[in-house]
Amino acid sequence: MVDVPSLARLRRRALLAGLGAVIGGGAACADVVPSVETPPAGVPDPASPAPQPEPQVQAPPERERWIWVQNNAGEEVAVAYRAGQNYNVAALVRLQRLFRDLRAETAGPIPPLLVDMLSLLQERFGYTRPLKLISGYRTPATNAMLPFAAPNSLHMRGMAADIIVPGFSQTDVVNQAMALSNMLGFMGIGWYGSFTHVDIGPKANWARMIN
Ligand SMILES: [Zn+2]
Repeated sequence: MVDVPSLARLRRRALLAGLGAVIGGGAACADVVPSVETPPAGVPDPASPAPQPEPQVQAPPERERWIWVQNNAGEEVAVAYRAGQNYNVAALVRLQRLFRDLRAETAGPIPPLLVDMLSLLQERFGYTRPLKLISGYRTPATNAMLPFAAPNSLHMRGMAADIIVPGFSQTDVVNQAMALSNMLGFMGIGWYGSFTHVDIGPKANWARMIN
C-alpha cells in the first residue's frame, strides 16, 4: 500500500528522472517509476527521449578591432585585424607588408601586440584619418644608416613604429601614448620633434630633438 504523499514524491522523482534523461541523454533512475502508475501527461519517456532542438542561444558578437595606417610610400591598409581573441592572419600579412623596410624592400616581423597598441592609440583619436607610419620594421643595415636610431633599436625586431597622427599635435600624441602606457604597463615612447616613436618594449620615455 502506497500512501498519497509518497506517491507524489515518486511522481516528482519520476519527473526529475525524465528531465535528467533528456538533458543527460541517459535513463537514470527509471526504476523508481512505479510500474502500476501511468506517468503524468508531459513526462518524457526515459527509454526514448524526445529529440531536442539545438540550443538557440547566440554567442555575443566578438568585438572587432580596426587599424588604419598609411606608410611613407602612400600605401594604405584599413582592416579589422582582430575579432575577440582571434587575429586575422591575412590582415596581419597585409600589415606586415605595409610596415616593411621601404629602403631594403624587406618585411620583418609584425607582433600582433604592436598592432593592438597602435589600434588602441588610434582609437583615442578616432578613425577619421590613417595613422602616418614614418618608420616600421628596419633591417640592421637601414637602422645603421639613420643617425638618430638606437643601435639596438626595437625597429629591427618589428616591435616599434614611428608615427604621426594627422590633425593632432605631437603633444597630443605623446600625452595619449603616455596615458595608454600607464594603462598597459609597458611601451617605450620617444618624442622626436616631427614624429612619435612608440614600441612594445618596457615602459620608458625620452625626448630627442631632431630636424
Ligand atoms: Zn622609432
